[in-house]
Amino acid sequence: MAEKEDYYELLGVSKNATDDEIKRAYRKMAKKYHPDANPDNKAEAEKKFKQINEAYEVLSDSQKRKMYDQFGTADPNAAGFGGGFGGQNGYYSYSSSDFSDFGDLGDIFSSFFGGGFGGQRTRRNNGPHKGEDLNVSMDISFEESFLGVEKEIMISRQEQCDECNGTGAKKGTSKIKCPTCNGTGQITSYQNTVLGRVQTTRTCSACHGTGEIIKEPCEECHGKGTIRKTPKIKVKIPAGINDNQTVVLRGEGNPGTKGGPTGDLYITIRVRKSSIFKRDGNNVYCDIPVTITQATLGADIEIPMVDGSKEKYKIPEGTQTGTDFTIRGKGFKNLNSNTQGNFIFRIVVQTPKKLTKEQRELLVELAKTMNEQPPVKKKGLFG
Ligand SMILES: [Zn+2]
Ligand SMILES: [Zn+2]
Repeated sequence: MAEKEDYYELLGVSKNATDDEIKRAYRKMAKKYHPDANPDNKAEAEKKFKQINEAYEVLSDSQKRKMYDQFGTADPNAAGFGGGFGGQNGYYSYSSSDFSDFGDLGDIFSSFFGGGFGGQRTRRNNGPHKGEDLNVSMDISFEESFLGVEKEIMISRQEQCDECNGTGAKKGTSKIKCPTCNGTGQITSYQNTVLGRVQTTRTCSACHGTGEIIKEPCEECHGKGTIRKTPKIKVKIPAGINDNQTVVLRGEGNPGTKGGPTGDLYITIRVRKSSIFKRDGNNVYCDIPVTITQATLGADIEIPMVDGSKEKYKIPEGTQTGTDFTIRGKGFKNLNSNTQGNFIFRIVVQTPKKLTKEQRELLVELAKTMNEQPPVKKKGLFG
C-alpha cells in the first residue's frame, strides 16, 4: 500500500478493542465499502475494501496484531525480520474460516471475487473444495529480472495438522455424525403462513453443513484440521519477467477441504530500478559517457551489458551527444517466445571540467583554429 493507514482507524475501533468488536467493525466496513455496493465509486471503494481486509487480516490474528502494535506493521520484511511473507500489496489474504461465521457476507464476497467463494458456500454441503489462493510479492533486482533467478520466499499459510492428520479430531478419536441434522447437513422446517405450509431448508449451523462434528477437538489445531506454518518455498523466476508480473505456483496455497485441491500461490514480482539501465518493453536503454575527443575522432568504446559482460562498439568520427546506437538482440528475453529485445545506448559527450596544464594549452591551440561560434540552425540543433 502506498499510503499506510492505521489499521484501528480503518476499522473504526480503539486500540484495545476486543476480537468481537474488531470482527463486528470489519463486517460493517466490508459491507459499506464493498465495490458492488459503491457502483459510482468503484475504484475508490475497492481500494478501501482492500485496506479494510488487510487491517482485519492483521488485527484478527493475535500474533500479527501484537507485531503491528509493536512495530506499526505486521509485515516481517518491514519489521526487519528478514525473509517474510507478503510484500506491500500482496499482503492481505483471506481464509475461508473467516467467512464461515459471517453468513450473509458470503454473498458479498462471492460477487467481488467472481463467484469463487460463493461457489464454496453453495457447495459447502459435504463436497470437496479447493483451498484458498495466496498472494504475496517479491522484490528482485533489475539484473535478476534480466537473467532469471531462483529464490526462496517465506510464506505464511495453513497446512494440514500433523497431530490429527487434518481431521480436527483429537488423536485417537474421530468425527461423529452431527446429532442436530442427523448427518444430512441440512435442517428442514415447516411454517404455517397465510399462503399455507411453507417448507424451508437451511444449512445446519451445528456442523456447517458437513454432517459431521468433532466431539473432542485436536489440541494442536483446535479442531480446524490445519495450522499456520511459515515454510520457505523455492521460486523460479524466468528471465525477462517485468515489474508487476505474477508467477503462479500451483498447489502452494492453503489446503483444500474434504479432499479438494490445494490453493495456488500468486507471487507478484517487483523489479527494483537500476541506476544504469532502463527498460521499455523488451528493450534496454542506457547512457554512455564519452570524452570530447572520443566523440570527435571516433573511438572503440566498451558498453556494459545487463548480464555483466562488456560489448565493444566503434562509434564513428563526429558522433554528436544524444546519438542512439543499437546492439540488436541484447535486450530482455520475451517471456512467450524466443525473441530478445535490443540494447540501445545514447552517447553523452562530457565536457571536461578539469584539465592539466598541457591539455589546456593544446585546447587553446585548437580553439585558435576554430574560434567561431557555430550558427544556430533552424531545424533542430543537429540538423
Ligand atoms: Zn449438522
Ligand atoms: Zn489437529
